[in-house]
Amino acid sequence: MEFPTQETPLFFIMRTIFYNATIITQNYQKKIIPIGFVIIKESQIEKVKSGYPSTKEFDNCQNKIDCTNKIIMPGLINTHVHLGESIFGFFIKDKISLKNYLDFTDKVCILNPSLEQKRSVVSDYSMMLLIKNGASTICGGRTANECKNWHVRNVSGYIIMHSPKLIHYYSNIMNKFSLEKRKETDMNTTAIFIHSLNRINHNKLKEISKIVKQYPRIKLIIHIMETKQSENEIIKKYKMTSIEILQKNNLLNKNTILVHCNWANNEELKIIKKSGASIVHCLSSNLNCADKTLNLSEALKIGINTTIATDGFATNKNQNLILEAKACFTYHKLSKSKNITFQKLLDMVTTNAAKALGLEKQIGSIEPGKKADILFIEQKKLTENKNCVIKNLFLYHQPKMINDLMINGKMILHNKKIIINKSEKNIYYKIKKLANKIILPS
Ligand SMILES: [Zn+2]
Repeated sequence: MEFPTQETPLFFIMRTIFYNATIITQNYQKKIIPIGFVIIKESQIEKVKSGYPSTKEFDNCQNKIDCTNKIIMPGLINTHVHLGESIFGFFIKDKISLKNYLDFTDKVCILNPSLEQKRSVVSDYSMMLLIKNGASTICGGRTANECKNWHVRNVSGYIIMHSPKLIHYYSNIMNKFSLEKRKETDMNTTAIFIHSLNRINHNKLKEISKIVKQYPRIKLIIHIMETKQSENEIIKKYKMTSIEILQKNNLLNKNTILVHCNWANNEELKIIKKSGASIVHCLSSNLNCADKTLNLSEALKIGINTTIATDGFATNKNQNLILEAKACFTYHKLSKSKNITFQKLLDMVTTNAAKALGLEKQIGSIEPGKKADILFIEQKKLTENKNCVIKNLFLYHQPKMINDLMINGKMILHNKKIIINKSEKNIYYKIKKLANKIILPS
């Protein structure tokens, strides 16, 4: 598989054809094409067909890429990441309570006030891991600048949290949010990200309600019901459950992205379903710093739009969504659920994720008219049976199979190497240098 050399512009102004590929379309019919081709025109997918291109179709394309032994599938959509926290992962134990994790990060930020200025060093490291693991779209707090530099699609949360490092964002949020909103592009949308209800108060909730009223289509991201202790603290503080607080403030609707919901009972899951909100399931992170995980089987059974995400590197050293989805399959098999199939796992990191972010018209599937966010997986055809393609994608996956990643028609990763203007060696050097200077709490 050869992509244009340095003399050829990386942004394909002309047409590119990817042929001889196995295509997982994730379209409405969830069609698998055992052998077919995809034509890209600039930033969009123009054609997806089975079989071989006609001479005319082939000749119309300036770039012709043979994808023998490659799977073409939608770029992965990681609905919950933390770019600026990866460095904490170098210092914390594998198993840590959420409370201890938050206390630790607060203390490190106080002891190392310059860490915030060095955020780009940490974020570059996080971005590199995400791209090498096939993420073409991410959602998290303050992702806009990094994603612009890395040419990655993103939903960037304006983060509201009473903490030393984020105090600047905590006041006058209407004006500051409006400024962020003005920076939106085709590749970046702005959301509100409430870190958690116990790190804000009644007045802040009222301010957030006003913003949501002014911008009725914006997404609202919130960590919710992650641990029993955090939920108990919220009930004590507000005299209501987390779900009741969101309902009371008109913050639970189809624009709400609920991260975790580990302690949501069946009644609360039904309320979430009725509201149209989405849930983000972060199993590995929960196993590391929570005391329970989402009842995924029940969430899927009642039809909640559920996605799978890695969460930040600090609480999950695996940033590979295919492996994370596979871990969910293995873990939730214990519940003997028939609701968790390989197809549903794939939906949770593509189509469901696109829907949660409000980007379902642009991304999540390989279809004409959609944005050219495409992941190329190197995998020898194990069988001609198209019913086994998705199962084998998960069962045999290793991160080294992630070969190429195209975002908005531009190749970001090629032959497993980042090919935009970033040096992997330099990123490792800088993060190592920064980590060695960190003063840790005693
Ligand atoms: Zn998180």
